[in-house]
Amino acid sequence: MPELPEVETICRSLRPRLVGRSIVSVRVIRPFIANRSPEEFAREVAGRNIEDLSRHGKYLLLRLSRARGSAPADLIFHLMMAGRLIHRPPGAGPLPEVVARHTHLALILDDQSELAWADLRHFGRVHLVVGDARDEAPRGLRNLGPEPLAGDFTPAVLAARLLSRRAPVKQVLLDQRVVAGIGNIYADETLHRAGIHPGRRACSLTSDEVVALHAAIGQTLSEAIACRGTTVRSYVDGAGLPGGFQDRLRVYGRAGEACLRPGCKAVVERLRKGGRSSHFCPRCQREGTDVRNSCPDRL
Ligand SMILES: [Zn+2]
Repeated sequence: MPELPEVETICRSLRPRLVGRSIVSVRVIRPFIANRSPEEFAREVAGRNIEDLSRHGKYLLLRLSRARGSAPADLIFHLMMAGRLIHRPPGAGPLPEVVARHTHLALILDDQSELAWADLRHFGRVHLVVGDARDEAPRGLRNLGPEPLAGDFTPAVLAARLLSRRAPVKQVLLDQRVVAGIGNIYADETLHRAGIHPGRRACSLTSDEVVALHAAIGQTLSEAIACRGTTVRSYVDGAGLPGGFQDRLRVYGRAGEACLRPGCKAVVERLRKGGRSSHFCPRCQREGTDVRNSCPDRL
């Protein structure tokens, strides 16, 4: 699933191609999952200009201008498991067949280029929000926690959110209300860098561990953005290019291989729980003893 670094990379790759362009027409190729009917969606979106692109957690927002007396609007994409947003310049060859077959929607722009939304697994969603009808925005976006790379995301903010939860720290990190944009790959990678076992109760972390985890989140996400994201299955950016962070993964997808921390030669393990797997090094990330894993009585 595209996580924060991948959606950020898509956003950065699309911004210079889309901002300032106007949407000439909308092609609804297959019935798709939107909060409007395909006809109403096409009617509302055509004729607007694209004013800005931004990322919020794992959501990508296209800010659209007013049109025909109607208020400005936002087009909100959630790529879910295997969604792709691909911009194709005029005259670009046909889309790869597997992508073309799963393309739901295309926005035709005034330079004859096209923004295609394809979703190979059909879980992605698109929301059109006109004006300030906030209740039309996806619930996940309305309840989004703090952006982990923003200046006001301090260790104290993270501590307040972790220390009130008894659930395993891995599960808490995946909760988009706690912190925005982290999914399975970056949760595993940040916990390894911080030396914290994924099964530790969030409330049992010491203040040193919270500081280490906060630093690991910032470093891992920044490095992954610099590498333009991680391609383990289908992810590509808005120009169709894969990312490069898959070569720097320390534990994710490396079960059975040696831990990459210098001096540690333990074998990376995979823990399956509730349909999800966590990758971790049993030596660098020790499982809590009963005492270490205990939480304050009030929780
Ligand atoms: Zn290790």
